[in-house]
Amino acid sequence: MQGCPFCRVAEGTAPARLVFADDEIVAFHDIAPRAPVHVLVIPRRHIVSLAHASPGDRDLLGRLLAAAAEAARQTGVAATGYRVVANSGAEGGQTVSHFHLHVLGGRPMSWPPG
Ligand code: AMP
Ligand code: ZN
Repeated sequence: MQGCPFCRVAEGTAPARLVFADDEIVAFHDIAPRAPVHVLVIPRRHIVSLAHASPGDRDLLGRLLAAAAEAARQTGVAATGYRVVANSGAEGGQTVSHFHLHVLGGRPMSWPPG
């Protein structure tokens, strides 16, 4: 989608520090990390948010979650623990309108989130 920063990462037209990528998913380091490890996992296809995912996206959503676990393994936080977050919509705190999972680790997480 034109003007979408994560579509540009997926297309390779914007720089990103990749963790891994395949034909439908890209995992890359957040540009403003909120934890020692902060990776974003996105579908290459532009889906606005979790609320915009359709029943036909269920398998992809499962693969995105598995990719989040893989990102945690590859960045070395799987053993100590990590958090996976999907902010959805304005009150969910979403600022980039292309669905993404945050993988946060490398420090203890507090609860509830702000
Ligand atoms: P959210 O607020 O849940 O929509 O998360 C958006 C995240 O994307 C924030 O943590 C930003 O720091 C991050 N971000 C925005 N633009 C980029 C970019 N070009 N490369 C990497 N991370 C980005
Ligand atoms: Zn997009």
